[in-house]
Amino acid sequence: ELANRMAERVADVVKSLMKMGMMVTQNQAIDADTAELIVEEFGHRIQRVSDADVEDVIQQIVDKEEELQPRPPVVTIMGHVDHGKTSLLDAIRKTSVTTGEAGGITQHIGAYQVTTESGALLSFLDTPGHAAFTSMRSRGAQVTDIVILVVAADDSVMPQTIEAIAHAKAAGVPMIVAINKCDKPGADAQKVRAELLQHEVVVEEFSGDVQDIEVSAITGQGLDSLLEAIALQAEILELKANPNRAAQGAVIEAQLDVGRGPVATVLIQKGTLKRGDIFVVGEQWGKVRALVNDQGERVDEAGPSVPVEVLGLNGTPEAGDVLNVVDTDSQAREIAEYRAHAAKEKRATAGAATTLDQLLAQAKANESVAELPILVKADVQGSAEAIIQAMEKIGNDEVRVRVLHYGVGAITETDIGLAEASGAPVIGFNVRANSPARSSANQKGVEIRYYSVIYDLVDDVKAAASGLLSAEI
Ligand code: GDP
Repeated sequence: ELANRMAERVADVVKSLMKMGMMVTQNQAIDADTAELIVEEFGHRIQRVSDADVEDVIQQIVDKEEELQPRPPVVTIMGHVDHGKTSLLDAIRKTSVTTGEAGGITQHIGAYQVTTESGALLSFLDTPGHAAFTSMRSRGAQVTDIVILVVAADDSVMPQTIEAIAHAKAAGVPMIVAINKCDKPGADAQKVRAELLQHEVVVEEFSGDVQDIEVSAITGQGLDSLLEAIALQAEILELKANPNRAAQGAVIEAQLDVGRGPVATVLIQKGTLKRGDIFVVGEQWGKVRALVNDQGERVDEAGPSVPVEVLGLNGTPEAGDVLNVVDTDSQAREIAEYRAHAAKEKRATAGAATTLDQLLAQAKANESVAELPILVKADVQGSAEAIIQAMEKIGNDEVRVRVLHYGVGAITETDIGLAEASGAPVIGFNVRANSPARSSANQKGVEIRYYSVIYDLVDDVKAAASGLLSAEI
């Protein structure tokens, strides 16, 4: 890499290093001081790059008050399983499809926009549940302005309801309570309000400041009121952004599309993303080749709070990655490469540390926990996360599954290398291995298994784990 950057021959650089007494191969890492000596020896100019230098290229524009314009709120639906999150998202989406095109367009891009009767625009994240919310937040992308807490009136407050309240409070995001399934005979909205009180959620009916709306995702009752409640909450928040600047956004989901290549749904947070813009997103970069909105239509640009599919990426980013528009190709490439490199180093040291820690801890406790290491690659971030969660549940005191690494996209040679080093099989969920990875796996005897149904995967892993230690899992 150093030779490459200096535009010198690799052999010459290696030779120089050897002259200095360093017996290195061409892919070996050398420290910064040595690299500096080499660069000087070859008569090149040295430029040490730090995190700050690289990230400075991304325009940290501070928007002036007069440049800010109102923007739609971004809403996430959370709540206990089966309380109707998905049904509610579907019902709300249907209200946005105007009668003429009803039933026609249901392009799933991970987020969509609707207009309320009074004309307010609202953006919904289409990935319910707090797993997505938290993983985005842990990656530094706080995109949600308002949380809709769904509580089924026939089931009332349940463990995940309480978790969702905790997540919303931790993020400092205001909540609106949607008391769902009010069409059901056993519905008791008052009980929901009373139970929420125990968790310090005081609804308006109890003189608090949390709006509560009785709805039914099935009959459509109360949906308009819910949308208006969101619009009202948004007004109180005075959400604003500058649409006239280099765009910044957060990846909601990303996948490798067979026909279109890597595709990411980005929720624009500031500025306006336009066709032809050059950008960096996490460890990837690209140039906007096309933008597709939630109706499946191609658009030329997308402003604040608008979700769009972005085509023209050089690789698949991860949910929660931040997209920034930069000036030139070379800047974008440099930042992406720098980040990938930094992340790789971090992973290498972190990986070694945890293994050592684990070994030490195990030795100390003198217990024998057998581990089944696996490596997971999936088509979208959501399924990768669902798999990790399912895997973590497998196991007992004697054996457990350890996910060494997981990611989105095809299985690559790097994955095979990591799997070989750890004696782990590679799981491909709705993705295949590329051909270098396949031959590498053959050569190294690494097992690759393909799945498209999570339950099948769980069953097989359970079987493998129990085989590891003839224990009941
Ligand atoms: P999620 O797990 O929170 O996404 O819940 P779902 O949207 O999958 O809903 C769980 C079940 O409750 C499904 O069988 C829905 O048809 C049903 N359901 C959701 N909302 C309502 C509602 O308002 N009324 C009735 N009667 N059933 C509902």
